[in-house]
Amino acid sequence: MKRAIITGITGQDGAYLSRLLIEKGYKVTGLIRSNYGSNLGRLKYLELLDKVELLECDLSDLSQVLNIITNCKPTEIYNLAAQSAVSLSFQQPIGTITFNIHSVLNILEAIRLIDPVIRFYQASTSEMFGKVNQLPITENSIVHPLSPYAISKVTGHYVCINYRESYNLYTSCGILFNHESYLRGENFFVKKLIKGAIEIVHGKRECLEFGNLDIKRDFGWSEKYVEAMWMMLQQDQPDDFIISSGKSITLREIVYYVFDKLNIDRSCIKINPSLFRPTEIEDIYGSNKKARSVLNWQYDMDFFEVLNLIIEEEFKNYGK
Ligand code: NDP
Repeated sequence: MKRAIITGITGQDGAYLSRLLIEKGYKVTGLIRSNYGSNLGRLKYLELLDKVELLECDLSDLSQVLNIITNCKPTEIYNLAAQSAVSLSFQQPIGTITFNIHSVLNILEAIRLIDPVIRFYQASTSEMFGKVNQLPITENSIVHPLSPYAISKVTGHYVCINYRESYNLYTSCGILFNHESYLRGENFFVKKLIKGAIEIVHGKRECLEFGNLDIKRDFGWSEKYVEAMWMMLQQDQPDDFIISSGKSITLREIVYYVFDKLNIDRSCIKINPSLFRPTEIEDIYGSNKKARSVLNWQYDMDFFEVLNLIIEEEFKNYGK
């Protein structure tokens, strides 16, 4: 039986990836920060709580990571744990950079010392290419991070490449562009927008505040993106892959689509300059050619289709 460890199992991708791996017959162990303080809501929502093993582990502590890997004997490790919000990383740069790098190093050191054949997936991000030179972004584009979060992810990414090149470890990085779902964290744009818009429909609030709506992003559907993570670890050779929809859309188009669909007057859209970021990527989209041709990953969803799915699920669960 294949056995996977997922760090960040309580997050959006962790929950969907757990479901996928269980369906594929894996035994799944999830590492959580604490048995008492962790948010198990997403695993509960997908009815996975009794199907995964949850173990407490401080990923900043090498001895704990060594213990877990020695005892679990995983065949694959998916490293999704991270302080994942760009905006929060400006408020907590030290915590974000320290945790997001240290955790990667500890796991790779543990793999190197205990069982170098364990396959490792790292959650890299399009944010690594903040200052864009050329579009679309490819696996060979020049990195230039514009936030503490992006800096931490660039370092994590190169730590993985270094362990692959220095010690021949099987480390693959998925460079994922924004991907959304009903389970997305409430501090992220699409979730915040749809949840807030539905509250307006129910008379619970009057308007929604946004930062810069003129920036463009490449958005996709989380459930399809976690499939690519699994595919990456099934290849003969480790490698890095961009996972993206291939096109960008302005945040304004998304807000207008949701407001129009829910018959909310556009005058309820308020711009708050204090929500603008110190540095911002104007437009970014990635080429998913390599993932399509090497992994045979298929992605054809329009982002409006994704928005419809999230709106429907959000309505279904309103007030629960
Ligand atoms: P989430 O924010 O939903 O989940 C993050 C996970 O990391 C949670 O399980 C969280 O645990 C855990 N975590 C955060 N800080 C710590 C910490 N200090 N110690 C231990 N665990 C911690 O992220 P997503 O599921 O959306 O993303 C998964 C990964 O992919 C992340 O690494 C993210 O940076 C990356 N990524 C995501 C993209 C996206 O669009 N979603 C795009 C590109 C990359 P807890 O529940 O306890 O807070």
